[in-house]
Amino acid sequence: MEEYKLPDLPYAYNALEPYIDEQTMRLHHSKHHAAYVAGLNSALKKLEEARSKGDFSSVQALSKLLAFHGSGHTMHTIFWSIMCPPSESKEPKGGELYAQIVKDFGSFEGFKKHFSEAAKAVEGNGWAILAYEPIGKRLMVLQAENHQKLTVQGSVPLLVLDVWEHAYYLKHQNNRAAYVDAWWNVVNWKEVERRFAAAKSR
Ligand code: MN
Repeated sequence: MEEYKLPDLPYAYNALEPYIDEQTMRLHHSKHHAAYVAGLNSALKKLEEARSKGDFSSVQALSKLLAFHGSGHTMHTIFWSIMCPPSESKEPKGGELYAQIVKDFGSFEGFKKHFSEAAKAVEGNGWAILAYEPIGKRLMVLQAENHQKLTVQGSVPLLVLDVWEHAYYLKHQNNRAAYVDAWWNVVNWKEVERRFAAAKSR
């Protein structure tokens, strides 16, 4: 079986300072994300064993593990890619993504407020997601509980924000709202625009 691997970060652990601290980034990537990769590979291996033995008595539990760890891996991979050093983070003032955001949310500021409030209000551990839904050709702000629950199937995540406590507790303790507000300073809008163009064209 070909195994999933933990991808390198596209920048140094301290590159998002002062908005996201080096220690959080180091633990988040090298421990938490690594654990999802290991869990994903383990679930796939156990499903492979189940097929070879013809014993599917654990298929429900393994399917849940596959969805949890698989989504944990893909969401973190996107999360790293849509952040960048604060000096390189520039909000779009025009272009296709900007125009679609204004069309679907009324204004760019309205979208940011909606996304932030969705992130702050996720119940327990989860994510806020800006997703492109290709059937209606529409952008949506979604919440995910854990990594995989409450999705709109078929939608493509463009911009994602991890609001698990492990993403902010060392720096902000229980103040998730302060983390969400600080995070906007490290969004890699160029990559979000690239993901939007790719999602529309496939
Ligand atoms: Mn995380």
